[in-house]
Amino acid sequence: MQNSRQEHLFKILVIGDLGVGKTSIIQRYVDQSFSTNYRATIGVDFALKVLNWDSDTVRLQLWDIAGQERFGNMTRVYYREAVGAFIVFDITRPTTFEAVKRWKEDLDSKLTLSNGKSVAIVLLANKCDLNRDELKNNGIKVDQFCKDNGFVGWFETSAKENTNIDRAANCLVKYIIASE
Ligand code: GDP
Ligand code: MG
Repeated sequence: MQNSRQEHLFKILVIGDLGVGKTSIIQRYVDQSFSTNYRATIGVDFALKVLNWDSDTVRLQLWDIAGQERFGNMTRVYYREAVGAFIVFDITRPTTFEAVKRWKEDLDSKLTLSNGKSVAIVLLANKCDLNRDELKNNGIKVDQFCKDNGFVGWFETSAKENTNIDRAANCLVKYIIASE
């Protein structure tokens, strides 16, 4: 019998406003590390995470926009061939939540999958270590927002304390594999 192990390679975008924690989330997920040094690199960078998924292998190519978020939108070239995305906001800065919708619109307008569907997106409410009640206090209704705007799901995350990043990634991968 042939080896039935399948290989999947998924390009995943990590987008959102400057300083929300995109690079930190990728570092935590891929390197199990966290740094408070602010590193606003210019350019595009990606990191690889390999997962054993049932009997398959999943390679996640996580694309970090690394500094270009100040322009508020990205080029089609960066989005090309992505099958999933994390849009990240900082729970302590409501303006970064307001920007989430713009990021999603930018993505949806520039990227359509070969099957005609729109790209799978999971929303990350990052820096949840700083204030457990921040979303509630600011009246941010993430659940309803995600339903209204077609997100696959959302998670409160902390790159600092390693909260929910694995769960969020598993949620995205599960959705992508199910819709292949
Ligand atoms: P990016 O511009 O979106 O890539 O954001 P960075 O990953 O560079 O993070 C911006 C700042 O927020 C840095 O000083 C990080 O140390 C800090 N940071 C990122 N994630 C977290 C988090 O989960 N909790 C806390 N307390 N700080 C974070
Ligand atoms: Mg960054």
